[in-house]
Amino acid sequence: MQKNKYDVVVVGAGPAGSMAARFAAEKGISVLVLEKDRDVGYPVRCGEAVSRKGIEEFIPSDPKFIATTIDKFSFIAPDGTEVVIPLEEEGYILERRIFDYELAKTAAKAGAEIMTRAYVNGLLFDGDKVSGVKYEHQGEQKEISAEIVIAADGVESRVGRWAGLKTHIDFRDMESAVQITAANISVDPETCYFYFGEEFAPQGYFWIFPKDKNSANIGLGIGGDRNRKKSALTYLNNFMEKHYPGASVLTVIAGGVPCVPTLEKIVAPGIMLAGDAARQVNPLSGGGIASGMIGGSIAGTVAAESILNKNPDHIFEYEKRWNDRLGKRHRIFDRIKNGIYNFSDEQFNSIAHAAVKLPVEKRSLGNIFKTALVNKPALLVDVAKVFFTK
Ligand SMILES: Cc1cc2nc3c(=O)[nH]c(=O)nc-3n(C[C@H](O)[C@H](O)[C@H](O)COP(=O)(O)OP(=O)(O)OC[C@H]3O[C@@H](n4cnc5c(N)ncnc54)[C@H](O)[C@@H]3O)c2cc1C
Repeated sequence: MQKNKYDVVVVGAGPAGSMAARFAAEKGISVLVLEKDRDVGYPVRCGEAVSRKGIEEFIPSDPKFIATTIDKFSFIAPDGTEVVIPLEEEGYILERRIFDYELAKTAAKAGAEIMTRAYVNGLLFDGDKVSGVKYEHQGEQKEISAEIVIAADGVESRVGRWAGLKTHIDFRDMESAVQITAANISVDPETCYFYFGEEFAPQGYFWIFPKDKNSANIGLGIGGDRNRKKSALTYLNNFMEKHYPGASVLTVIAGGVPCVPTLEKIVAPGIMLAGDAARQVNPLSGGGIASGMIGGSIAGTVAAESILNKNPDHIFEYEKRWNDRLGKRHRIFDRIKNGIYNFSDEQFNSIAHAAVKLPVEKRSLGNIFKTALVNKPALLVDVAKVFFTK
């Protein structure tokens, strides 16, 4: 029987929301997750690439949600030069539809209640403090009180804005991404391919993430330059016509990726933001699965501490813990991204020409990066900070 008051209400059952719910519920407080869609994990709007380390902090690797295991990256320069780099640590292409479901199950196991088809459409306030949510479920408008609301409602988050937090980001920082899942193609199922340059993805990159040897997530993200004449979809269609004219397209998705540092304020009285809603995506790669889970787990833990210690102001501790764990690092990644994304085709080509001369066993992301630094020495300062900031 659903109660009308919970210690914590989480909005959204993506990776960030499920981890917020789980870490809060594990501490013994009451938690309710409200998810607008009918199914947790669907529809999928993601390339589904993640490092093994990134997920194993939260859930053991399980073949049921792993489509393929990746052991190398292939970087393709604008002139076609290919640099293959064996990975020191393997990665996965997930089946997010199943992965997100399994994450939600861990939250439920910890004691969180989960309700799907529950669309949050407003907040309740007690003075300036958020004190619950309004939502629609099965055609009925309802309200539920909460000591703390955790907004993990994804890239299009509105909950934070309703609470008065500044969630707006400049359109130039919002990567416009489009992706298809293509079948009837031939790919190496153990390699992730990345294409760079004006033809493929200006101020971004183009990816092929294999799901098996005959299908892959193929897409790109490009920077939000107002003067660009071609849309992300045009770049994708051009690529498919040239490289995979016989492909069958199983899904098409489009979405924004907030390739920016985390919002300055992700907490206000009674409310915390997590995952894409807080802009916790890695600004360099655009990956937000692992970092969203980390953000959610910290938010859930701090929320529970606040409830258990009867100290509402303790939720502000979340900003500090997030910044120490990843937030500061993301700010530096953002500056590195701005350097790399502004490389010219000639610079990408010259990095690739230098990198292919390295013997394969000496090729690592670090070594390739060093080559990139020779092309743009100003990046050095920022890189040094990545390694020397705690
Ligand atoms: C094209 C594309 C490719 C990507 N590829 C990768 C990749 O390969 N690797 C990677 O790590 N990241 C990738 N990302 C980013 C990644 O998908 C996100 O960073 C990640 O899903 C963020 O998790 P989240 O829990 O914050 O949000 P989401 O996964 O978006 O979950 C938010 C949830 O909130 C629900 N919700 C929203 N509003 C409401 C509401 N009002 N009421 C109730 N529920 C609500 C939504 O239905 C959704 O289930 C990609 C993104 C895009 C667009």
